[in-house]
Amino acid sequence: MAVEDDFYNPPGLETSSTGLDLDRPDVEQYAALASELRGRVDGDVMFDEYAQILYATDGSIYQARPAGVVVPRDVEDVRAAIEVATSHDVPILPRGTGSSLGGQTVGRGCVVLDFTKYMDDIVDVDPEAKRATVQPGVVQDHLDNRLAEHGLKFAPDPASSNRSTVCGGIGNNSTGAHSVRYGITDAYTEELDVILADGSRIHTREVVLDSDEWDSIVEGDDLEANIYRTVRGLVEDHEDEIEKRYPSLKRSVSGYNLQKVIYENDDGEEVINLSKLFVGAEGTLGVIVEATVSLVTQPEETALALYCFDDLVDAMEAVPEALEFPVSAVELMDDEVFRLARESEGYAEYAEPIPEGTKASLMLEWDNELVDDFEAAIAETNEHFVENGTAFDVIEAYSDYDQGRMWKLRKAAIPLLMSLQGDPKPYPFIEDATVPPEELAEYVQKFEQVLEDHGTSAAYFAHAGSGTLHIRPILNLKQDEGIQKMHSITDDVTDLVVEHHGAFSGEHGDGMARTEFNPKMYGEELWGAFKELKTAFDPEWLMNPGNVVYRSDPTDIGPNNDRGVGADNRENLRYGADYQSIEPQTALDFDDEGGFSHLVELCNGCGTCRQTDTDVMCPTYRASKEEIQTTRGRANMLRAAISGEIDEDEIHSERFQKEVLDLCVGCKGCKSNCPTGVDLAKLKAEVKHQHHQEEGTGLRSRVFGNIDTLSKLGSKTAPLSNLAPKLPGSRIVMEKVLGISRERELPTFSSESLEEWFADRGGSSIPVGDADGKVLLFPDTYTNYNYPEPGKRAVEVLEAAGVHVEIPSDLEPSGRAAFSMGMLDRARERAEHNVEALRPYVDKGWSVVFIEPSDAVMFQDEYRDILDGTSVDVVSGAAYGIMEYLDVTRADERLSFDAPAESLTYHGHCNQKAAKKDHHAVGVLRRSGYDVDPLDSSCCGMAGSFGYEAEHYELSQGIGQILFRQVEQSGGDVVTAPGASCRSQLGDRPNESRPPHPIEKMADAIN
Ligand SMILES: Cc1cc2nc3c(=O)[nH]c(=O)nc-3n(C[C@H](O)[C@H](O)[C@H](O)COP(=O)(O)OP(=O)(O)OC[C@H]3O[C@@H](n4cnc5c(N)ncnc54)[C@H](O)[C@@H]3O)c2cc1C
Ligand code: SF4
Ligand code: SF4
Repeated sequence: MAVEDDFYNPPGLETSSTGLDLDRPDVEQYAALASELRGRVDGDVMFDEYAQILYATDGSIYQARPAGVVVPRDVEDVRAAIEVATSHDVPILPRGTGSSLGGQTVGRGCVVLDFTKYMDDIVDVDPEAKRATVQPGVVQDHLDNRLAEHGLKFAPDPASSNRSTVCGGIGNNSTGAHSVRYGITDAYTEELDVILADGSRIHTREVVLDSDEWDSIVEGDDLEANIYRTVRGLVEDHEDEIEKRYPSLKRSVSGYNLQKVIYENDDGEEVINLSKLFVGAEGTLGVIVEATVSLVTQPEETALALYCFDDLVDAMEAVPEALEFPVSAVELMDDEVFRLARESEGYAEYAEPIPEGTKASLMLEWDNELVDDFEAAIAETNEHFVENGTAFDVIEAYSDYDQGRMWKLRKAAIPLLMSLQGDPKPYPFIEDATVPPEELAEYVQKFEQVLEDHGTSAAYFAHAGSGTLHIRPILNLKQDEGIQKMHSITDDVTDLVVEHHGAFSGEHGDGMARTEFNPKMYGEELWGAFKELKTAFDPEWLMNPGNVVYRSDPTDIGPNNDRGVGADNRENLRYGADYQSIEPQTALDFDDEGGFSHLVELCNGCGTCRQTDTDVMCPTYRASKEEIQTTRGRANMLRAAISGEIDEDEIHSERFQKEVLDLCVGCKGCKSNCPTGVDLAKLKAEVKHQHHQEEGTGLRSRVFGNIDTLSKLGSKTAPLSNLAPKLPGSRIVMEKVLGISRERELPTFSSESLEEWFADRGGSSIPVGDADGKVLLFPDTYTNYNYPEPGKRAVEVLEAAGVHVEIPSDLEPSGRAAFSMGMLDRARERAEHNVEALRPYVDKGWSVVFIEPSDAVMFQDEYRDILDGTSVDVVSGAAYGIMEYLDVTRADERLSFDAPAESLTYHGHCNQKAAKKDHHAVGVLRRSGYDVDPLDSSCCGMAGSFGYEAEHYELSQGIGQILFRQVEQSGGDVVTAPGASCRSQLGDRPNESRPPHPIEKMADAIN
């Protein structure tokens, strides 16, 4: 079944930062290569310094600048890129999302091929044959979402599946929590189309040995023929050593899969399938341009039981026993994970059910394909582990909700660990070592000893059922001592793994972290075979050299040069003993984040900001599919700036300002969705502020930053002022002078402001003495001067609930607009004024309530960054969005409703989502009698002034298109959104009117 409509590639969303038309000079050294590539490649060719920085890191501890980046549009582009690069003697590095943890997706002087932008089509799904064919850039969850309609899934489930690609998973031989049940990626990789180092394309599949097909392949004298002959020869020549050296584990992904390439197929024939060799080859043997994978049925139901132990070793000893039961996962968490979760605002609730004294827990999962009766199955394991074993308690979970919470806790381990403050961090370098489950108990005790010998510690968690523990020792890799310890720990742990018949890597691959140690695992004979194998595929060692296998010196097998020579896991570190970063004087308070630099360095490259299906982060990537438009890209560029990777003045260049900072819409999605809390909106505001100090503030920023003055004037002179933008040619003038897009209709001004309306009606109708609450309704600029209706309806609702309302007339705007523009002095003045004016009221029990979510969050969050003292905390603590206020005080319960028979599609504001305050409106609207579908949507693309700015119009539209599709799919009768910008963006859709604020819908529902 050919797949035609691809949700993840909606048309018209390729909005590029290159549309900004800025100067991007190629790095001189590679200018000739770049120019030749541009002549042959239809896709993007980026050989400037920014591209090098953006692709110099992945999810690992490593960093190496590539020569440049090619973003191919099709297979011909891939072939051309390989031919041109290799003719210049420049290596090739294929890349998916770059979420790898071993450093295999970074390579000094390589041409990186990024498949995620254009080559991400699901080519075919065949539900009968249970097979799917994908291009290399398809994200795994996107494939699974497509397969769900057939009750199927791609079995390997890495925790990173919401952004990592199927072919990146093939490159690493990935797997996840369910490897106990399904094994790893090599079992599901059936056929591949691969471009080899000489530019030839091969199709790998099962070829019966000594059949006519085999003969016709090997009789040639091309690269493919030589590969088949060599591989068969190597497997046959080293049969005994292969038998002896490869561990018999569910997960073993170190080295090349020589043990799996020749096997007996379902018809009992002996076949060779090179696909199995490309799995786990980390891009070192060729570039996959299409992959056919086999699928499994998706179980319809699951259940979980979490067993609590008062000793880690007891828990480890219980693992082999757990595997005697028909389980689909056996996952470990230790007390360090629970401790961190309990101390974290975001995860504490998930750790609550874990009983005191739990030193370690094993979480077992069952699915309906393995057992018929979950309760009976769990009763059986309870008897074994609790009644007759060493577990002292069990927590059972049957509902999706309860199971979801348990998995959340389990998956919180890495983000919790990585957000530790300070330079010592739990780094990945030996984090997926794997031993047979029956040896885990002894292995863990010895591992503890290794850590103790090196004066460090670690948390223990992950896939105990398959013998893989994610142990990340805490080290300071900015100091030589830490770096040497890392090497020494790797050495000791790899010894330990060999002693216990395990694998150095059980899921993340070799990369720069573990390749050095592979000879230890495989011995001299197989190490030699690996080098022969590599040379047969890639005679000049031009495919991601130095990973999986390396050469001892330039005279070793392969080319007579130093490519792929040596491996040392202390080289190419992202930090390293020479790393230094400046800690700038900041206008905002970064104490909570450990300083400006620390906040920047919190980005560990995990790539979560490239996920596109849920949450808010990161709307600009969703629309553009460009690395520079991810939170990671921006953080990497900022790190380059503070660490001297780029010229110190570069940060004030037009390009840096426009591409790195201005394209961030400041939605704050990353603040809450980034697992380590990289808050780019805050970093952006700070750097923009510094830039204004250095270079002055531009006219447009000043206009938008002081939009209230203009709006007040507009309101006073309305309706005349509303005619001005309608005069012929006026939009063109506005675009030329102020940079405001001619495509946008500006908001109209209301001739009566909200304040005037409130005064005219004689103020509050509820005497303060009789009131159930006192509210100061903040007259935000937009509600006050442009669109007072939601403000009026808020007064109506509050008063109906018996609340006394005042609209203060002595306040300044919140400062949100100035803050977004980086005009922090202006924002601070406003904050100071407002806090001083409001504190006496708040002290007397008044609440401050906002119609506009971005203003509410400005008070609740940003005010604490720009002001010190207790007053700001007091006022912040009394600030609420209107729907939040109604929900928190349950004021709506004093009302009776008769809601119109309409269903609502609710699009929340990204600032409120980031502040985790978005659910209030949904709760209140539901209690008002509406059927509400809350969208899991990102930013609308307007983001205050962003969508009005001429150079951002296209990107803003691209982001908006994603929301529009979600709205269409939701199919509610009415769309409602609290954000003024969101309502403008949604109202600008053809033949659609501006949606109402939720308070308007609520007012409509009151009896
Ligand atoms: C927080 C976190 C959790 C993780 N959890 C897991 C987990 O549970 N299980 C797991 O297995 N891994 C995990 N990983 C590691 C990583 O995310 C996975 O291995 C993932 O499958 C890699 O996909 P990717 O698209 O990011 O690939 P990349 O990192 O881009 O590439 C991976 C390798 O494949 C090669 N490659 C990519 N595309 C091609 C191609 N077209 N042709 C040939 N070679 C190619 C690359 O050169 C590289 O060597 C995790 C990483 C993070 C940061
Ligand atoms: S910004 Fe956050 S989510 Fe994105 S890569 Fe960095 S740490 Fe991961
Ligand atoms: S603030 Fe929004 S647009 Fe900017 S990096 Fe964060 S998620 Fe992306």
